[in-house]
Amino acid sequence: MEIVPLGGAGTVTGSKFLVSGRRGRFLVDCGLFQGLKLLRERNWAPFPIDPSELDAVVLTHAHLDHSGYLPVLVRAGFRGPIVATPPTADLLPILLSDAGRLQMEDARWADRKGFSKHSPALPLFDEEDAERVLDHVEVLSTGEDLGMGDFTIRLSGAGHLLGAASVYVTDAGGDSTLFSGDLGRDDDPLHPPPEPRFEARRLVMEATYGDRSHSGEAAEDGLYGAIRPSLDRGGVVMIPSFAVGRAQTLLLLILRLMRKGRIPRVPVFLNSPMAIRATEVHLAHASDLRPDPAEVEAALSLPQQVLSVEESKALNRRRGPMIIVAGAGMLTGGRILHHLKTFGKDRRNVLVLVGYQAEGTRGRELLRGERSLRIHGTRVPLDCRVEPLDLLSGHADREGLLAWAQAAPAPPAGTFLVHGEPGPADHLRRRLEDRPGWAAAVAEEGRPLLDLDAEG
Ligand SMILES: [Zn+2]
Repeated sequence: MEIVPLGGAGTVTGSKFLVSGRRGRFLVDCGLFQGLKLLRERNWAPFPIDPSELDAVVLTHAHLDHSGYLPVLVRAGFRGPIVATPPTADLLPILLSDAGRLQMEDARWADRKGFSKHSPALPLFDEEDAERVLDHVEVLSTGEDLGMGDFTIRLSGAGHLLGAASVYVTDAGGDSTLFSGDLGRDDDPLHPPPEPRFEARRLVMEATYGDRSHSGEAAEDGLYGAIRPSLDRGGVVMIPSFAVGRAQTLLLLILRLMRKGRIPRVPVFLNSPMAIRATEVHLAHASDLRPDPAEVEAALSLPQQVLSVEESKALNRRRGPMIIVAGAGMLTGGRILHHLKTFGKDRRNVLVLVGYQAEGTRGRELLRGERSLRIHGTRVPLDCRVEPLDLLSGHADREGLLAWAQAAPAPPAGTFLVHGEPGPADHLRRRLEDRPGWAAAVAEEGRPLLDLDAEG
């Protein structure tokens, strides 16, 4: 089989791997390039092959850097099935419709600022394009085989996100490749650890944190330290959070802190329609999560759901103590900004910044020490505490990646590192090649993965 990366090589977004054989051709993942403008512009380049010639797309998971290009592919003529685990199939509509909405907002913004080449500015895709993707989705449970031409596909659990899987591809000639997808961490509170990997001739492996180790601090303790002082003083805890996975992990940790008596049983609000929908999908697949289903049920039904804008405004008239989990984890928009305008003035309150804050976002400004933000056209000074909480990464660190790679009895003939910036990917390559019998290379976009020779 021939494998060519069409994205997700040398960068952490845009994952797409073209797998071709004598009979059959398909993509593993179909992700959007995200982040810097230079990357985002690549979403507009013509797709290197005619999408109608693809037999299928197999998804590792629902995150947009692995699935968000599907609306473009379908609009350009792709007609085959999109194979995904049942939870991924349920999360996909939530993530894709949000992506469609954001693309349309971006286009309107470009219009207002007058920097689009088109007038009116065109979105990369819209909500209708996103919806059409869903007609193609076919579910495949982990551990089951799916035949496609010369190929057989099998999925196994990868942790990381509800429904996330590694993709094992074998062909009639005895060749085999294992795509890791994004790998979760062994100590994730919400997701089980990745399953031990299959033996394969070729390993295509993520390297997001290939040069880093996570701190030993437990997420529960970190959250406790960030929010307890405010709750003690009757304050408001504001936690902007990514809606899928992160928000549910926070609810689980909040429940555990309450049950242990480490924080008082204050009202908790989930103020994000997207997070509420995602929470329902997590409840429907509770047996795929790490805690026992009774604890998942208790955690995810802990918050009062805030659906309408009116209810959200009413929250601003309430007094603490309370905890608000809202959308827009990097403060890029949404309801959290209204809460910040109201509750940011009080030094008893706290804003908890969970996880990565990208360049150019309000979250990043605050991490740099800025203590006022531009919100809805005015500068808003913040007197509340700002607490970064960098303990909830969904990715395995260097040690986790190395342990996963070495969990099968024999090293693969070649290991190709993807989904990593050049530094982390090359660090992981060297660490792998330190081991006898291992040959590794950093994959490059557009270049077929060629056989490697282990030097012993
Ligand atoms: Zn992911």
